[in-house]
Amino acid sequence: MAHDAPQAAGPGKLVIRNIGLLLSGAMEKPILDADMIVAEGGKITAIGRAGDIDASGATTIVDAMGTTLAPGLIDSHVHPVAGDWTPRQNQIGWIDSFLHGGVTTMISAGEVHMPGRPRDVIGLKAMAIFAQRAFWTLRPGGVKVHAGAPVIETEMVEEDFKELAAAGVKLLGEVGLGGVKDGPTARKMVGWARKYGIQSTIHTGGPSIPGSGLIDKDVVLEADTDVIGHINGGHTALPDDQIRCICEGCKRGLELVHNGNERSALYTLRIAREMGDLNRVILGTDSPAGSGVQPLGILRMISLLSSLGEVPAEIAFCFATGNTARMRALDCGLIEVGRSADFVIMDRAQHSPGKTILESVQLGDLPGIGMTIIDGIVRTQRSRNTPPAGRIPEIVGH
Ligand SMILES: [Zn+2]
Repeated sequence: MAHDAPQAAGPGKLVIRNIGLLLSGAMEKPILDADMIVAEGGKITAIGRAGDIDASGATTIVDAMGTTLAPGLIDSHVHPVAGDWTPRQNQIGWIDSFLHGGVTTMISAGEVHMPGRPRDVIGLKAMAIFAQRAFWTLRPGGVKVHAGAPVIETEMVEEDFKELAAAGVKLLGEVGLGGVKDGPTARKMVGWARKYGIQSTIHTGGPSIPGSGLIDKDVVLEADTDVIGHINGGHTALPDDQIRCICEGCKRGLELVHNGNERSALYTLRIAREMGDLNRVILGTDSPAGSGVQPLGILRMISLLSSLGEVPAEIAFCFATGNTARMRALDCGLIEVGRSADFVIMDRAQHSPGKTILESVQLGDLPGIGMTIIDGIVRTQRSRNTPPAGRIPEIVGH
């Protein structure tokens, strides 16, 4: 597998033509009327119809062959450790495998599987800074892993959060996985984190593995994290009435994960729709975990929510792209000029009964991935993990 350093914005010009369906990632307009995208220096510079935009001087030309292009998928909840290895299930290459499932960006909810994870304040701060640095330098397959998410402990003081932020830490790991499990302490520390620009999430529901604990609706609402981490449990979900209370009691992100309770995910989706709050729904896998790693986990969530939750497929794709990008202040996840040129190109899987890719997803099938692109650079061609796509894009010129 490739282990690329972060790509500096280069002089390359990428032209993708003959796009059959362009998914924007934006709930307000999920399908764009365009068949061509141009990216320069790793950023989108033009979106439109061939003939209307300047495609000259391309260093790479991709013919999408009439397939579907979407923003690269974002996994809002992963637990990386170091490099492309996870000790949780002792696997290597799991991040590269997720890239073959269309995931181009991952967000750490804490490097909690680190063997011998330090729980003293100086140790946990050092580990968070190390993880942030290491994953920004090393991008397995090109995947952007936003890591360095410390798990808060009761001995921490405001100065610790200030110091972490100054050192480049931008995320908290799941509140509740460390010593802080009560609402008032969590609220105080989440407030300190927010004051210094650090985003927060929380472990919602029953214990995930021996050693973790229950976090119920009262703690979740009092802690007031930016994202309600796995509101459908990881894996044990809260009772439905508590899930409803959380959805109605705040305006924070509602994160649905693959390693959670699927029925509770569909219940949360239904409440969010009733409230007109589908823009709060974001997706993660919560992996690696006890139930393994899921390279196709985000695609499977899109298909689950679209088919059983009766959400149009183009909207379900927004849960894993634009919604997360906006909530997490990322520069990817939407097909807009100026955003990162991070794309997944897909088609209806071979022999799916759906007539189009969107219909196939609404019927519960997964799409086939034909190409991934990060920072305007082609990273993978036909996926080794998805069902084979009917048509696949081709690189037709350099
Ligand atoms: Zn959790």
